[in-house]
Amino acid sequence: MRDAEFVRRWLLAMAASVDQEADRLTELDSAIGDADHGVNMRRGFTAVAQSLAAEPPQTPGAVLTTAGRQLISKVGGASGPLYGTLLRATGKALGEAPRVSDAELREALATGVAAVAKLGGAAPGDKTMIDTLTPAVEALTDGYAAARTAAEEGALATVPLRARKGRASYLGERSVGHQDPGATSAALLVAALARTAA
Ligand code: ADP
Ligand code: MG
Ligand code: MG
Repeated sequence: MRDAEFVRRWLLAMAASVDQEADRLTELDSAIGDADHGVNMRRGFTAVAQSLAAEPPQTPGAVLTTAGRQLISKVGGASGPLYGTLLRATGKALGEAPRVSDAELREALATGVAAVAKLGGAAPGDKTMIDTLTPAVEALTDGYAAARTAAEEGALATVPLRARKGRASYLGERSVGHQDPGATSAALLVAALARTAA
């Protein structure tokens, strides 16, 4: 069973990872976007880490909804509302249980990913974070390590795709040949989960 502390450690691991990889995320976004993805993610997850330290919520669901709210309110770019929705919808799906099973967490994450797809209108193959999150949640039935591998493969698989959503879609064919920044940060989120669960 997983408690609030587990989810908090996951999100703190993500904050550390984003901090470390921010330059790379921004570099990817400079090729097919507006060169701010690392900055956006760092701002958002720094706020998440601060809010979780100040008054740690007591259930897995509350940790995720608190973090989601921070991302929505602190990040100006598209990624803020999208990641915020992912965490908030996942948290809401978990409800108020003090501990949740891995199967419950997987179900809740599937709900969260569906909420992101609905908000952004992206499907797999559109060269977005959905290309990482969808296979990761599917692979979660085989465990956290399998989800991490699927996420990393999903992010790499965005390279040959043509962007159909978000800022990169303005580039049309010129978006081909570059890895999507949001798909890359989504792989960091799944990797942080796998490390925390290990
Ligand atoms: P912005 O594009 O507003 O500058 P960011 O650079 O922080 O925001 O985030 C860009 C990332 O957001 C993209 O690489 C992509 O993965 C993701 N993204 C953008 N639009 C959508 C969408 N409609 N659905 C899903 N993900 C999206
Ligand atoms: Mg950007
Ligand atoms: Mg921007």
